[in-house]
Amino acid sequence: MGTRRDFLRLTALAGTSAIASPLIANPKTENKPIVISTWDHGVVANTVSWDILKKNGTALDAVEQGVRVVEADPRGTTVGVGGSPDRDGYVTLDACIMNHKNQCGSVAFLQNIEHPISVARKVMEETPHVMLVGEGAYQFAREQGFERKELLTEKSKEAWERWLQSSEYKPVVNIENHDTIASLALDSQGNLSGACTTSGMAYKMHGRVGDSPIIGAGLFVDNEVGAACGTGVGEAIIRTAGSAIIVEMMRAGMSPQDACKAAIERIIEKHDDVSNLQVGYLALNKEGEYGGYSVLKGFTYAVRSSEVDEYLNSDYSL
Ligand code: ASP
Repeated sequence: MGTRRDFLRLTALAGTSAIASPLIANPKTENKPIVISTWDHGVVANTVSWDILKKNGTALDAVEQGVRVVEADPRGTTVGVGGSPDRDGYVTLDACIMNHKNQCGSVAFLQNIEHPISVARKVMEETPHVMLVGEGAYQFAREQGFERKELLTEKSKEAWERWLQSSEYKPVVNIENHDTIASLALDSQGNLSGACTTSGMAYKMHGRVGDSPIIGAGLFVDNEVGAACGTGVGEAIIRTAGSAIIVEMMRAGMSPQDACKAAIERIIEKHDDVSNLQVGYLALNKEGEYGGYSVLKGFTYAVRSSEVDEYLNSDYSL
């Protein structure tokens, strides 16, 4: 984990003029390339991302290719193929991507496409828009050459049928709401990018869209400062503009770790009862410092650089 000690070391290296606004005054990167990703599937995503980063590939390619592996894995009931359906039995996907030039693309409520993250990248690169949803996103994906694919696996269908017997919407903390793979990377050029992709909360209402495709909520990147991403109950992340405020707090001088913690505290302040509300945030700054924090125990993340290959438990508030 990026520590306060490291942060102090970096600011000390930058000299006294850096102390007031260390991240902007000292754009020299110290710990690059590096990639950081949510949950246990972040380990495999990071492996793919790292292969790209270590060959001086771009952060954008690294995060896209890393999360694609998780999207394609039918064993995960959380993202892409095999994702848990909504309460009507439809697998609906949300994803977004953002690069170092403040360009971004997003898809929401997308069905029958294996790699929403790559469709989001196409929205960013091939259209004048940021976000496409539902049938329009699907049509665009097909026009761009993405194949139609059935995403509901037998295993996810059977679990949904068991759920239908009670039809109670009570997502299990750290299980039914740890859908999202989100990755942040800093490449050898010193550029940041991020990607976020999910099948959303299991058994959500048909048509529900979470934080993951919303720039500023599930993901935000500002190449002058840093990047942040979220996972967990998307409604809480949207209500507090989670990733955007983390980046702004880093701009004001906070470390990634402290910024994640402050954004989690904001969620706790703004909700009456968080006993069953898990949100986890990750952040990465221009110096390659990183941090993670969650409301409840149980949020994990993976980090990969030339010096670090770790799978960590985040700190948490409650
Ligand atoms: N944030 C995602 C959503 O609300 C789910 C998750 O990350 O667990 O759709």
